[in-house]
Amino acid sequence: MGFSYQNHILHTESVNITDLIEIYGSPLYVYSRTDIENNWYEFDQAFGTHPHLVCYAVKANSNLAVLNILSKIGSGFDIVSIGELERVLFAGADASRCVFSGVAKTKAEIKRALEVGIFCFNVESMAEMNRIEQVAKDMDMQAPISLRVNPNVDAKTHPYISTGLKESKFGVDIDDAIPIYQMAHNSPYLTVKGLDCHIGSQLIEVSPFLDALDKVLELVAKLDKISIRITHLDLGGGVGIKYDNEQTIDINAYIVSIINKVSDLKVILEPGRAIIGNAGIFITKVEFLKQNSYKSFAVIDGAMNDLLSPALYQTYHQVLPVNENTKGVDANWDLVGPICETGDFLAINRKLLLSEGDYLALMSTGAYGFSMSSNYNSRPRVAEVMVSGNQHTLVRERETIQDLFNKEYMVDD
Ligand SMILES: *Cc1c(COP(=O)(O)O)cnc(C)c1O
Repeated sequence: MGFSYQNHILHTESVNITDLIEIYGSPLYVYSRTDIENNWYEFDQAFGTHPHLVCYAVKANSNLAVLNILSKIGSGFDIVSIGELERVLFAGADASRCVFSGVAKTKAEIKRALEVGIFCFNVESMAEMNRIEQVAKDMDMQAPISLRVNPNVDAKTHPYISTGLKESKFGVDIDDAIPIYQMAHNSPYLTVKGLDCHIGSQLIEVSPFLDALDKVLELVAKLDKISIRITHLDLGGGVGIKYDNEQTIDINAYIVSIINKVSDLKVILEPGRAIIGNAGIFITKVEFLKQNSYKSFAVIDGAMNDLLSPALYQTYHQVLPVNENTKGVDANWDLVGPICETGDFLAINRKLLLSEGDYLALMSTGAYGFSMSSNYNSRPRVAEVMVSGNQHTLVRERETIQDLFNKEYMVDD
């Protein structure tokens, strides 16, 4: 674990967080390189000698340092935009280890992905298949494709992060897949490679994954009968992490059950949260304590623009004091930010001993934290720091006030 108390002060690996606050200020994201690497190795090593590629889902946290660290240890990448493609290439990744997901790839995105030679497109509709074919034809190339299907299984997660049901905007209904594969198979500009699904995020049980796998394997067999050969299965991401004391998926057991079902098919996984979620924390300062007869609010310097997921889909983040306090006001605190929205909370009803000026760490915020942050309320985005052993590196500068409007123009009258 990259985060622990040493002499009552929270550390990331061997670095004292109070030192980081002094150097880089607050609020702040802090990541543990060792945790990132170990989380990725856990997926990779569970496959043993089975053909596989672990493609980190870039949208979980797209900082260049994160991408570069993962690229150095051999990770592939799951990208969803040309911005993510250029980021991973800039960070040193090999295009041939990238899969391109997303429901609305533009012509420019498809062209660029073909130019650099990505491993596969995860295609999400017939219309998109036609577009990819057209671009490949214009370039006189063959585009490698995989069709994203909806296996219609309930991921049993928050509805906003559930993606594998029939009513989802993602992928195509598994029962409609065959004609689309036939079209791709018959096109001189498309090469059928795989079959893809991604049923949701923060799954804490394997059964929905294995149900989806069974359905996908039935389709592989049907395609095989009409001589359309699938060479890899992409089972997406979605492995949940421990936010509190809940049970979650045993990654090794999950991967072993996949291997037991797929014979020699290559397997791609696209974990995001499971790689970076617990490898990052968000540091924030208590500005004011505000109590009335109903509620105890700790007003903090971090807000929903810095960390959106508690407001968007009710993620629970453990709150730890940076300095283990022995004094302060004992209450059940709501941690609320400075933004003018009632939804601006980062944690609700937490029993803590607090004083103004204390620093707190919101745990498990490495994924969908900084990457979902915005400038709402004209708040500069915070700094990010990577820790490795006793070293710390600023991997994104705190934005300045000037950064907030240097791309804007007033009208001339
Ligand atoms: C978001 C997403 C992922 C990553 O999901 P996690 O829950 O972070 O593992 C993987 N694949 C696709 C297609 C996604 O949309």
